[in-house]
Amino acid sequence: MKIQVVEYVPKTIQGEGPFAGQIVQLVRFSKCNLECIWCDTREKMNSPTVEIDTRDLIKRGLPIVVTGGEPTIAPEFEDLLAILCSSEHPTYVETNGLRFYSSWLRKFPDVTWIISPKLRSSNNDPYPEQRLQELLSVLGSPHIFLKFVISDPDRDFQDPMFRRFVGDIINGHLFLQPADNDIDIYRKMIVEGPEYGRYTLQLHKIGGLL
Ligand code: SF4
Repeated sequence: MKIQVVEYVPKTIQGEGPFAGQIVQLVRFSKCNLECIWCDTREKMNSPTVEIDTRDLIKRGLPIVVTGGEPTIAPEFEDLLAILCSSEHPTYVETNGLRFYSSWLRKFPDVTWIISPKLRSSNNDPYPEQRLQELLSVLGSPHIFLKFVISDPDRDFQDPMFRRFVGDIINGHLFLQPADNDIDIYRKMIVEGPEYGRYTLQLHKIGGLL
């Protein structure tokens, strides 16, 4: 299957979340259904697309990070996951969760989901209740990890969506990272944030990688 992406990196490191530091290949789809004020991929989302063949991805062997933009809104998204799962290929999907369906856990058993719901400080509207319920229903799964980008610790740790999510997530499955790798925010997060979170920086940015 051929897919159109705005970026394909055959070898890089996963810079954030539960697989930070692992060598992976990265597939980036264009477009997003949110507009975060601190978005760091807006320019890439508008780049010209390149065509890649899923057979080449599988042959390469490295785990595949599927990201965006927001990958779940790409027309090829589900077909891509079906192909990767039919090869039992390790696949990590990074999504904002706004278009996530719990049925995907059964449909795509080889996928690990790194869901990054966007808090109000991102300048987006709160997620609709139905979408929140869909996300809350899968928090006990070993295939689900949550990642929150924190730009204002005082506000974000009191955000109603943050408080609803962190109560139900499995220990070790909550990742917190400061917007723009801001060290002042990072220090404040560690003082004020929940004790069971994992506080990380974006390694790929520190290393100047894609
Ligand atoms: S959800 Fe991600 S890609 Fe979309 S605007 Fe926000 S930071 Fe950017």
